[in-house]
Amino acid sequence: DATIHLQVRVARLGSRYLLLLADDRTEAHRLEEVRRDFIANISHELKTPIGAISLLAEALEPASDDPVQVRKFAKRLETEAQRLGRITREIIELSRLQASDVLTSAELVDVDTVVANAIDQNHVQVDARMVTIVSGGEKGAQVFGDEGLLVLALHNLIANAVQYSGEGTRIGVGVRVTEGIVEIAVTDQGVGIPEEDLGRVFERFFRVDQARSRNTGGTGLGLSIVKHVIENHGGDIRVWSQPLHGSTFTIRLPAASHAATASLGEQQ
Ligand code: ADP
Repeated sequence: DATIHLQVRVARLGSRYLLLLADDRTEAHRLEEVRRDFIANISHELKTPIGAISLLAEALEPASDDPVQVRKFAKRLETEAQRLGRITREIIELSRLQASDVLTSAELVDVDTVVANAIDQNHVQVDARMVTIVSGGEKGAQVFGDEGLLVLALHNLIANAVQYSGEGTRIGVGVRVTEGIVEIAVTDQGVGIPEEDLGRVFERFFRVDQARSRNTGGTGLGLSIVKHVIENHGGDIRVWSQPLHGSTFTIRLPAASHAATASLGEQQ
């Protein structure tokens, strides 16, 4: 069921008109391009840590008499191996989420538990960066879904908020329930996102600042995982941001009592 995209242009040649038909790329072609881009990106992302690991491993042997050097190389080996592990896990997770857009198992999930677990999973980074997480809002909200995936999604949002915030700042995680919709908002006082990049942050491998993000261990996959999880739950995600002031990512999910009959899209 491929769609043909035709670009139609009319050109004037002296007193005659020409009808130009161009770009007959089919939808199948476009999807093939997206797939090829994804694979090219994956190869690139994997090559960087693999290359570093090979170089460091080669450097270990000649440095074996120098314990300081050995320790330094070993530490960097560990960092690169962890990075490789993280990218691999995220790629597998994303592929799994993309393969099916419906949840295979959905049960009643307590939003309070999701929030508590997602915050808890970030506590090492929170302590290291000396930020404070404040959670609040409505208690007792429930949604239908996969608790593990919802924790993963919120965890990624909180991890980003921590990652892109300065020391001593506050991160808010708030829950609101209105008209059958559960809203979970993560607000930070961090670096923010330039307006021209706001529409792209959910793309796979997109980073606002490639170099800085890579140095901080970013893969550019976190937010596209969040988007897939939330959309697979019949919800959506929005972002508001102001450079130098902070960002708010808001997840919206159908509340449990409404979820059985409608998804967010159908309610609008
Ligand atoms: P990464 O692994 O690089 O964090 P994500 O997909 O999670 O990848 O995010 C994509 C990009 O969006 C990040 O590289 C960063 O530039 C930007 N970003 C995401 N969350 C925030 C935030 N809370 N504050 C500022 N920038 C953010």
